Amino acid sequence: MALRKLLAGFRGIEAFLPLSQDGFSASDVRNWPAWAGQECPSCGGFTRHASWPGGVPVPCAACMATPPWFPARSLFVYEGHVRDGIRAAKYAGRAVPAEALAERLLEAIRGKWSDRFPDGFRPSIVPIPIRPLKYFRRGFNLPALVGAALSRLSGWPFAPRVLERYGEIRPQAGLRLTAREENVRGAFRVPAGLAAPPEALLLDDVYTSGATANAGARALKTAGARHIVVLTVARAVF
Ligand SMILES: [Zn+2]
Repeated sequence: MALRKLLAGFRGIEAFLPLSQDGFSASDVRNWPAWAGQECPSCGGFTRHASWPGGVPVPCAACMATPPWFPARSLFVYEGHVRDGIRAAKYAGRAVPAEALAERLLEAIRGKWSDRFPDGFRPSIVPIPIRPLKYFRRGFNLPALVGAALSRLSGWPFAPRVLERYGEIRPQAGLRLTAREENVRGAFRVPAGLAAPPEALLLDDVYTSGATANAGARALKTAGARHIVVLTVARAVF
């Protein structure tokens, strides 16, 4: 018991120690600037080039086809330190300052996104899963770590087992945007005997084409989810 406590203490301290240059630390995360530019009102897409009639935001082209969630939001631009940190965590096994990422997300949920997260809205946090083989290789799933921390901080339920990943032939990274939709279609399911939570917060690390979020949300909807909000740590700017 005492030993377990001691180890837990060490793990806590570890999150605050600086990492080597290509990793990312909790203090890095606390200093990352959140995107403050224009966003698509539906998918939250970052854009530097929107010219909206009368200054009123309209959904981006990709959102003209109704997505199975509403809305999606991301915090950081997937470039520079943010991209390096996330890639280091995913591919080089660096520590993930999950708590700091969750703190930043919750700050936005209670701040600039509060209109999308009204009081009383208690979505179950569903991290986008990775395939079991990848899990064994990496030993962790970044969205699940951040999701667990966000659940602790927000008090919202955590539902890491409600989505299962099984199809998907090739990794999404490295595929063209058009191939991603095809690759990930039908890659998720809710295991037999489980029901999807009626209100879900689908959490992923990076939003690229939206194909992963769409496929995950469709599987949740098929299993009974009614309202799905997508949250990602970062996304690319187009
Ligand atoms: Zn959009």
